[in-house]
Amino acid sequence: MNLTQRRTFLMSIAAAAAGSAALPLRAAAKIKPDAASVLIAVDVQNCFVTGGTLPVAKGEEVVPVINRIAAAFQNIVVTQDWHTAGHASFASSYPGKKPFETTSLKYGTQVLWPDHCVQGSDDAALHKDLKLPTAQLIIRKGFHKDVDSYSAFEEADRKTVTGLAGYLKARGIKTVYVTGLATDFCVAWTAMDARKAGFEVYVVEDACRGIDLNGSVAKAWKDMTAAGVKRIQSADIEA
Ligand SMILES: [Zn+2]
Repeated sequence: MNLTQRRTFLMSIAAAAAGSAALPLRAAAKIKPDAASVLIAVDVQNCFVTGGTLPVAKGEEVVPVINRIAAAFQNIVVTQDWHTAGHASFASSYPGKKPFETTSLKYGTQVLWPDHCVQGSDDAALHKDLKLPTAQLIIRKGFHKDVDSYSAFEEADRKTVTGLAGYLKARGIKTVYVTGLATDFCVAWTAMDARKAGFEVYVVEDACRGIDLNGSVAKAWKDMTAAGVKRIQSADIEA
């Protein structure tokens, strides 16, 4: 090894050492939502918590987490699942069908649910402890009788839009932080559609809870990661 080679070698060792020392610092850096960021609280409604018509296990635990991180956001959007009576996603709309079975609709396979979140019912109201007084928009979805809508952006026919992408773009929003219920359905579909619409997307894992039908939570994380969604915890957000 000549002198130049030796110097290069020593420099590369030094760089590697510096790199590994820098790693913990990088991991500890917090994310600060800016004026072009929005927090979306998906479907934190009575129907999806204990005592509701379609309860997600420990669904109510997302409420204090969302309330806490909300302070870091200048922009907040809330969604509500908002179905007609006799909705196409209800098992009760099909003779002989039971909740959690599937049926085939024009736009594809539909999971059938217990009747839930019927427009104007107490079951469809936002959780009473969700405190988001600075939220600027409530977007309701699933209100077309024949089409479900897990996503806050696009209905299950994958054609009808809710208008949320247009609203966010008109307001200059670039980054979306998704929280709420349920991880494997409305949160995942909302996050992936936000990616499709061109937003940078974070899902705050501890601000979500899942239903988990046949491993659907693990699959949702796999799909979200493949779509470029970033998985973070509420502690990663700088208040
Ligand atoms: Zn629904």
